[in-house]
Amino acid sequence: MKIQNHNIPFNKPSVTGNEVVYIKNAINENKLSGDGPYAKKCEAWFEEHTGTLKALLTPSCTHALELAAILIDIKPGDEVIVPSYTFVSTANAFVLRGAKIVFVDIRPDTMNIDETKIEGAITDKTKAIVPVHYAGVACEMDVIMELATKYNLVVVEDAAQGMMATYKGKALGTIGHIGTYSFHETKNYTSGGEGGVLLINDEQYKARAEVLREKGTNRSQFFRGMVDKYTWVDIGSSMLPSEIQAAYLYAQLEQAEKINEKRLSIWNLYFQNLNEISDTFKIVLPTIPKECKHNAHMFYIKFDSMTQRQNFIQNMKQENVMCVFHYIPLHSSPAGKNLGEFHGIDNSTTIESEKLVRLPIYYNMSDEELATILRVLLKVLV
Ligand SMILES: *Cc1c(COP(=O)(O)O)cnc(C)c1O
Repeated sequence: MKIQNHNIPFNKPSVTGNEVVYIKNAINENKLSGDGPYAKKCEAWFEEHTGTLKALLTPSCTHALELAAILIDIKPGDEVIVPSYTFVSTANAFVLRGAKIVFVDIRPDTMNIDETKIEGAITDKTKAIVPVHYAGVACEMDVIMELATKYNLVVVEDAAQGMMATYKGKALGTIGHIGTYSFHETKNYTSGGEGGVLLINDEQYKARAEVLREKGTNRSQFFRGMVDKYTWVDIGSSMLPSEIQAAYLYAQLEQAEKINEKRLSIWNLYFQNLNEISDTFKIVLPTIPKECKHNAHMFYIKFDSMTQRQNFIQNMKQENVMCVFHYIPLHSSPAGKNLGEFHGIDNSTTIESEKLVRLPIYYNMSDEELATILRVLLKVLV
């Protein structure tokens, strides 16, 4: 009898080696609040590597989305277009400002908002479109930006999962007027468990973003010597991560390429192994449109039904490999029913979400772990 000694989690937060060194440095500098030296280095990294006009670190992607909602002046009665297949924060950030959420169906191939269904959901109350780049695979941004121009709407990209991924060569999060990334421990890059960044791509939002994030004061301008007093000038909140988080993140940014390559190599191995048998076992693999370079944030497969998916998760768990399903569509959640409305017919959102299962993928996965997952996967599928 074979003894099972592996235990493979769905995720492990990524660690590259220098995180502890940089955190120690930060402590030795006696400067641990927000906007310290590591925070500045991180923000400069984003501005250099993504082409965004201004990057501002935040305590989470949720906070970055909340800042975006304030920046674009969302008011009670405004409508915001969001896919229903997403994380709650995509909707909540705008609901907090009084918006009504209009949910639009997704495309079954990428699980992203169906760009052909957006125009029909636009009314004279629509203020913004919030595309979510699921699994780090870009939405059809050309169509979305054209609609935004035509109807004078703001585009806030929820690129929580999209760091290091591109659409037609442009970094996700830098195509819309505003973008956000997440550094939660389940994402490709983390700032020690929680964190995010706001990417400002439009000059008109730049100055105010700093003020909102600094408790509504002009402290940042004061430190740059642009004003001679620092005072309360606008609404705001405290949305700066500590220097400990920035130090952790900077260690990861220095290894951004290496982390990306490692994840892509795992993703590609999954794809090669499963592609050969996908027809036989009636599983559907992710689609990557040719305009998109993804970042291997996720490897998912889709079964024919929810029952098959649940059996698969159960069988993998028995073999000590943790696989998980993903979002329950927001429009069918208790809050979603009250605070939003699904536009048109739900052709794909519910049915596709019920078929999907995510396989383990993380930077610190060993070759042995990956070999074990692939062996178990084939055993369970057959
Ligand atoms: C992870 C995630 C968020 C929230 O990120 P936090 O940093 O945990 O606040 C928002 N939207 C999407 C699509 C996500 O995947």
